[in-house]
Amino acid sequence: MIFGMGKGGRDYEDDDDEEDDEEDDLDFILFKGALNENNPDLSANGRLVQAGLMPAKKLISEALARRADTVRIEPKGKFAAVSYLVDGIPFPAAKMPPPAANAIIQMLKLLAGLDITKKTIKQSGGINAEFDEVDHEIRIDSTPVQGGAERLLVRVQNLKEKVETPKDLGFSEELQDKIREVGSSKSGLMLAVGPPMSGTTTVSIAMVRGIDAYMYSIASLADMQGRDLPHIQVFETKEEDDLETSIRRTKRADVDVLFVDPLTDATEAKAVLEAAQSQSFIAEMPAKDAADGIERFVALVKDPKLIAKSLRLVVSQKLVRLLCKSCRHAYRPNPKLLAKIGLPTDTKKLYRAPRPDEDEELDEDDLCEDCGGTGYRGRIGLLEAIELTDEIKKLVLAGADAAAIRAKVRELGMQSFQTDGIRVVGEGKTSLEELQRAFRS
Ligand SMILES: [Zn+2]
Repeated sequence: MIFGMGKGGRDYEDDDDEEDDEEDDLDFILFKGALNENNPDLSANGRLVQAGLMPAKKLISEALARRADTVRIEPKGKFAAVSYLVDGIPFPAAKMPPPAANAIIQMLKLLAGLDITKKTIKQSGGINAEFDEVDHEIRIDSTPVQGGAERLLVRVQNLKEKVETPKDLGFSEELQDKIREVGSSKSGLMLAVGPPMSGTTTVSIAMVRGIDAYMYSIASLADMQGRDLPHIQVFETKEEDDLETSIRRTKRADVDVLFVDPLTDATEAKAVLEAAQSQSFIAEMPAKDAADGIERFVALVKDPKLIAKSLRLVVSQKLVRLLCKSCRHAYRPNPKLLAKIGLPTDTKKLYRAPRPDEDEELDEDDLCEDCGGTGYRGRIGLLEAIELTDEIKKLVLAGADAAAIRAKVRELGMQSFQTDGIRVVGEGKTSLEELQRAFRS
């Protein structure tokens, strides 16, 4: 078998016709070099390449074909377990003997330009790749586990889908107007908040993109994580400068809107709030939801007055799965239920995922092709936005907790996860069960 050796290390497509015939319904991923440009010498690792390259390609290609964006390989006793994350939900994919798993792990480490002689330290890297004629980036994290083995986390990003606009993310017209308004006022801070891995950076960057870059000068002091934003000036920070000094430099350069790294440090948060008297800021912060974000921000900065003066808008996103259009089931909802959740009582139908017990005769081959029988395909972000109106400012100044802020938000009719989730259920895009699942976790 030939595994693409001797092709200069840039393209590892295999030339094996037999293999292609067997697998002609599956496109294989092409590995196109390490992100750190430390390109591996495949010919010096012939045995590993023979044992690991095709299995690694198959594993990732199959995962992508099943719409997974994350693959985990984890040693578990006598076997290594492979699992996929599809739309944020883990699925067991395969079990393999530890040597086979190890060959894949070491192969992917090699392709990512990592040191395969080291198995007792954490290593992270990435591989440029192409799948289905689209450029992808594969992030690899290896972590040592007991017994000398390693766990591997593989995250695949489709580079075509990388940067999203407020419209792509379903921001309402009202919210888009609000972001433009704050951006054009040359003052105020807008925060995107959320739990880790929930797309908060995507939301904060969409907020940056929501400001007219032709009218206002927009710059970034943040780590853009490889994202390339048109018309955004990236300010290199000097090592000796603190955030306050860097902000002053952008001010001297007449920057109107500034995107900064996540706010987790009290001094830096204060510097941003002070500077937000004469510049607009966009940043993110870890929190459960928008109200929780306000409570945590007050606890971090410990200056409610300054926050009431400068914080203008807090946006949070929660991802829920979309029902598969090919196999969703319509049902007639009970009017009492509709009244309880706040949908019009004359709503004729809602949708839910098919339940396995309804189709007992189905075997594996009859599963819905579009969703693999999960009933869901793709995700949508629910959005919640709290504008710091006089009523909300009053609560901030009074030291109110997240629950009190949430209650006020409901009273004022601002967009919350609840109202946005029910809207999406009403549109038949997701189910009440999925909303419950998303809010339990
Ligand atoms: Zn389906």
